[in-house]
Parts: sequence; C-alpha cells; structure tokens
Amino acid sequence: MEKVTELDTFRVIAERVGRFNVEGKRFLIPEMNRFSSHLLAGVFQSFGVNASVMETYEGLDLGKKFTSGKECFPCVVTLGDILYFMEKEKERLGDQFDPENYIYFMPEANGPCRFGMYNKYHRIILDSMPGLDRVKIAALNSDDAYSLDGLIPREKMRDFRKAGYLCIVVGDILDRLLWRIRPYEKTEGMGDAFIDEAVARMSESFAHHASQKGLSPILGGLIEVVKEGKGIIDPRIPKKPLIGVVGEIYVRTHVKSNQDTIRTLERYGAEAVNASIGEWINYTTYEQVRLARIALRLNLKGLRLKGLRKYLLQYLKYSLTLFYQYMQQRKVYHMVRKHIDIEEDHKIGHLEKVLRRDNIFSFEVGTEACLSISSALELAHRGYNGIVNIFPFTCMPSNLTASIAKPLMAKLNIPYIDISCDGSFQPGREAALRTFMYQAYQHFKTHGGP
Ligand code: SF4
Repeated sequence: MEKVTELDTFRVIAERVGRFNVEGKRFLIPEMNRFSSHLLAGVFQSFGVNASVMETYEGLDLGKKFTSGKECFPCVVTLGDILYFMEKEKERLGDQFDPENYIYFMPEANGPCRFGMYNKYHRIILDSMPGLDRVKIAALNSDDAYSLDGLIPREKMRDFRKAGYLCIVVGDILDRLLWRIRPYEKTEGMGDAFIDEAVARMSESFAHHASQKGLSPILGGLIEVVKEGKGIIDPRIPKKPLIGVVGEIYVRTHVKSNQDTIRTLERYGAEAVNASIGEWINYTTYEQVRLARIALRLNLKGLRLKGLRKYLLQYLKYSLTLFYQYMQQRKVYHMVRKHIDIEEDHKIGHLEKVLRRDNIFSFEVGTEACLSISSALELAHRGYNGIVNIFPFTCMPSNLTASIAKPLMAKLNIPYIDISCDGSFQPGREAALRTFMYQAYQHFKTHGGP
C-alpha cells in the first residue's frame, strides 16, 4: 500500500478546497446571520445556481464529536451543519445520493487567527468519511476582498458582486429593523412573525431580480417592508436604553450560538444594535486599500517600477470597490431612514481614526479586534448606554478586545459585559445580563440615550 505523506494531504486540500465553478451543483451555504444567508442564497439562485442554506445547530453534537474542544466554536457549529446535512441527505436520497453533486461554501480570512483553517479542517473530516471526500469546498478569501473569481463565470461576476453586496446591506437593514421594532411592538411576537415573512419575501425578490441590470425592484420591496414594520411600533412605549453589541462576527450574529443574547437584553429592557456584516465586508476591502497604499509607498521609496505599477493598480482597484460599497450602502440606508430611524453604519476609515486618536490599538494588528475596540469607543462617545462583547470562548481577537475595551469603558463609566459562548448553558449568564441592564438603565436615566 502506498504511504500517504503530509505533502499528499496538502495537495488534496489544495485540490478540493478552492474556487470551483458552481454551475450544475447544489451549493450549500452555512447559516451565519440568518437574514443575509437566505438573501445570498436568493442571489445565487438568480444567477442560475442551485443554492440553499443548510439547517443550522441541529448537528452540534456531530460537530463536537469530530473536534477536540480546542477549535474555535464557529468551526464546530459549521462542521456540525455540513455533517448533519450530509447525513440527512443520504437518508433522503438513499442510493441516489451522490456527494459529487454538492459544493459546500466556507469562506476564509488570512491573518493571525484561525478562520483560514476551518475549511481545511472540514476537508480533513469530510475526507475521513466514506464518499464525502468527493464533496468540494468552495472558499473565498479576504486577501482579495472575497473576489468571486473562479466561482461564477467571469462575465457574470460584476453583476453578481453588486447584487451580493446589496444583499449584505439589505440583510443588515432587516436586522436593524427587527431590533428597532421588537422592543416597542404592539403585541408580543408581532416583530418576529413579521420579520420571518419579510425575509422570505426579500429572498424571493433577490432570486427574481438580482441578476437583472437594475436592482430597483428589490429596493422598492425593501421600502414596503420597512413601512409595514414601522406600523408594528407602539408609539406609547417610551424609549429604552440603547445597547451596542460588538464582537466576533459569527457568534455575535448567529442567534443560536449566542443563545439569542439580544432577546435576553430586550427582555430586561434594552433596545440593542449589533455590529453589521457590511462592516466586515467593507473592512476587508479597506484593508486591501491600506496594504496597497503601504506597498506603493515602499516601492516608491526604493524606486522599484514594477512594484510601483502593480500596487498602484491594486490601490485603484480596491479604492474604487470601496467607494462603490460606501456609496451603495449610504444610498440604501438613506432611503430607509426616510421612513424609520434605524442606526446607520460607520465608515471603516473613521474607526481607524478613532483608534489613532487615542493611540489605543492599531489596524496593523488586524483581525476583528480593531473593529470591535473602535466600535465600542465610538458607540460610547455617541451616548450608547452599554456595550456587550459577544464572542466564542478562546477567541483570540475577542479576548484582545475584552482586555482593552473593558478598562476603557470603565474609564468612560459605560456599562460593559463580555459574553463568551461555547454551546454550554451558563447558569449565571442571565443574572449577569440582568445586572448589566440595571446599570445601563441607571446610565440612561442620568445621561439619556444617543
Ligand atoms: S475570530 Fe476568533 S473564533 Fe474566529 S477564527 Fe479567529 S480566533 Fe477563531
């Protein structure tokens, strides 16, 4: 028998984790933020891809079974999702089940933390199961701001990217709409029932219109949703303390992983706003502009003409992309804010300035810590009544955030709490959140809201 070397393992990872043409395949999207995942599936469907969102958290036991406990929690949850899906699909299709028909989507990010390793680890686990070595894993990387090159045919990429970005912004807005109306709803449960129906409508709209040239039917539908949502607010309910949520993107947006912390906060009297997904997408593009600018400067100093040309082109390309993203985001928020006062999103350049101003942390360190620390500071300065940092237990950037943001918030007299999640129930969690909300309410009584 031929000996399998480490090099063979790396070759297999390189061959079966990457950019594959998804046409004709069933494209499986793991649920992170429940709204934008479903809207993204709609975008793929509009471009002719048979995409669907996998059921989430049902396979947590499977995820735990094939991990050692040292992995990041999102890696465990998403592994459980794909294994559970495959198990169910085998049961459903019997002999007709063909792993070759599926492409599992697991993007990644480069940097000092482990997000870039999830899909490699998932590859190793899938390869250890009969037949599942043939399930391909599609990966996009933050290194090129999640370019779709290789996944979608070139001629469709531009339109896809525009619709994909719009679906992220619309997903953020639906989230913000829910958090704006639920604490003030006329009857308990109205907000949730409304938003479920609204997301289904918007996913349908993306599936119909995303590949068309004009995206205005989608925006028209969004405005209808916003107007209807506003009607759920009972104007007699007085304003509540406003809580800002920061932290690791997966766990803070994956409601089941964070045990619906926002709902618990609302139960104790909060209105909450979580950091957006658009923030991360804009950050990855901003980071490419920032790195190209540094490389350009170095090449200029050394008079290296080849490098100068290369980085000038990169700088222009990512600057234009970032400009487009900001413009699109501002336009959609502006349209929506004519009807309801949801929170706007901040620019990444502004967050970098916030960190520089007080010399607290640096974008050079990278990871989400630079976004979470600066957002916490920004929200505190804007008059939020408390900050919650939600993250996976052992998450490196989030522990960095906790160690820096906590003393900063204490100095500013802003209530602050860390919520680390690993799938277990912590008996003291609810009491801690209740105490936090008591402090936030005192802050609100003294200072008012933003
Ligand atoms: S951000 Fe945290 S949870 Fe995510 S990969 Fe990095 S260390 Fe893991």
